[in-house]
Amino acid sequence: SRSLGRKAVVFNKQAFSYEQVLTAAETIRASLAKHLPGGSGAAGNGGGGPEQPPRVGLFASPGPEYLAATWAVWQAGGIVVPLATSHPPPELDYVCRDAGVAAVLAPPDQETRLGPITRRAGAALQLLEPLTGGTPEQPRGRGQGGAAGASGPGAGSGELSAADAADLADLGSSSGRGALIIYTSGTTGKPKGVLHSHRSLHAQVASLASAWRWAPSDRLLHCLPLHHIHGIVNGLYCPAAVGAAVEFAPKFSPQAVWARLESGDVSVFMGVPTMYSYLLAQYDAAGLGPSGPERQAAMRAAAAGLRLTVSGSSACPVPIMNSWKELSGSYLLERYGMTEIGMALSNPYEGERRPGSVGQPLPAVEVRLAGDGQLLVRGPAVFGQYWGRPEATAEAFDAEGYFLTGDTASVSGSPPYWAIEGRTSVDILKSGGYKISALQIESAILEHPGVGEVAVLGVPDQALGEAVTALLAPKPGPDGPGPRPSDAELGAFCRERLAPYQVPRRWHWVSALPRNAMGKVNKKELLRLYTAGQL
Ligand code: ATP
Ligand code: MG
Repeated sequence: SRSLGRKAVVFNKQAFSYEQVLTAAETIRASLAKHLPGGSGAAGNGGGGPEQPPRVGLFASPGPEYLAATWAVWQAGGIVVPLATSHPPPELDYVCRDAGVAAVLAPPDQETRLGPITRRAGAALQLLEPLTGGTPEQPRGRGQGGAAGASGPGAGSGELSAADAADLADLGSSSGRGALIIYTSGTTGKPKGVLHSHRSLHAQVASLASAWRWAPSDRLLHCLPLHHIHGIVNGLYCPAAVGAAVEFAPKFSPQAVWARLESGDVSVFMGVPTMYSYLLAQYDAAGLGPSGPERQAAMRAAAAGLRLTVSGSSACPVPIMNSWKELSGSYLLERYGMTEIGMALSNPYEGERRPGSVGQPLPAVEVRLAGDGQLLVRGPAVFGQYWGRPEATAEAFDAEGYFLTGDTASVSGSPPYWAIEGRTSVDILKSGGYKISALQIESAILEHPGVGEVAVLGVPDQALGEAVTALLAPKPGPDGPGPRPSDAELGAFCRERLAPYQVPRRWHWVSALPRNAMGKVNKKELLRLYTAGQL
């Protein structure tokens, strides 16, 4: 039902159609079948329970092969396990062993790197030949344009029903069979393998396709890692399910992203908050050049021309939201999700988007607040199990089947808007008897023009229980880091914006905050380093 002539993946200035990707998938599937134990449905090694399909590691950089390999594994009846190309061998060993992969797909130039890893895991290594025969890209204005395939499903209406999306997703939507194991991003500890079925993935895709109005004419500029839910489900499966195009940027660079946005043929962009802060810094820097006003006008037009600009994976500080609104004319669409549940809450596509809020539940998502303020989520998009960890799985759900997110949330207003106050374990501080949201303080501090990054921690303290402590990194200036405001100045700045008990007691500067692949800081680790005097 997908229009096969349409562009599916654009990479390296070459466009590959759905037909080309599906043809490549069939070739990969044919070889892969030889490596999978007993064909489809066989029990593999590994701990996911007796009737789990074989797992196949996918170690590939962004490109058409990524989508082709995914479809190949599904058609062979396997579970895709994305591996991070940036990970060192011990991390790859951990994931391959934990998931019990039967085979790993990797490009030929990675054979020496992956050989020892697959041998240690007892898995076969199958090489993924790069796709050839793409069509050179010619920028031609907004939308996929052109006559070929322009009548794909949903074209014209610009809107897809969940049923259309279901039909297009090719995910065997009714099947509870395992499809994907994604490892969580490791913000709070060792990553856990999260098993999604075709049905739960389909529920995620259908929900986003309708809520965010994915259409075949869309083109997403993709700069996110593919081994996390944001990059793979929101950024790859959604457009693939509706017949839209995904253009992979080789890696995130603010210059390259602005150049592509200014070309005018990108309609959707998705990023983590740090990416938007880099894009904004680039915009500010452009204003300093000789043709500053014209450059900035072009950048503003480019940002305003995007149909959908999404932020997620961590809280988007309100100052970033406001600056983006000033630049583009509209707020970023902030949403909240997790590996385990997909996207759960989203600001509206049409209607009011509130900075500091994550909007309302997406279609088919049930949310609830526990007595302690923890957000609970239930619905068809929720995962089945932590791979091989039956106890962790059991502990993650309450008696009514709600998943315990570990995030603290609040809801207010009519219509109700939800806000994430932070991770229950590290962002909700108790100081002097007050319950404090670190995210709220971080947002206030980031309004200061000298602050580039901030993480607020609760440092154990005899008198207060926890002392509100801010770790700061300076904003980059035109030549190196900008000037650092004094503690006194920051204190006064915060007293104008926050309650006295929220104002940090200690300020500690670092050159940059350590972040993981999703741009997140591990606060437990930061606290450990800080209290050990290692920051
Ligand atoms: P691990 O579970 O291994 O510690 P992780 O939780 O960071 O890693 P993900 O599943 O990728 O791994 O991230 C989900 C978390 O990201 C959520 O629990 C939430 O804390 C945070 N998050 C995502 N979107 C938002 C948002 N819009 N606002 C605030 N927090 C968000
Ligand atoms: Mg988590």
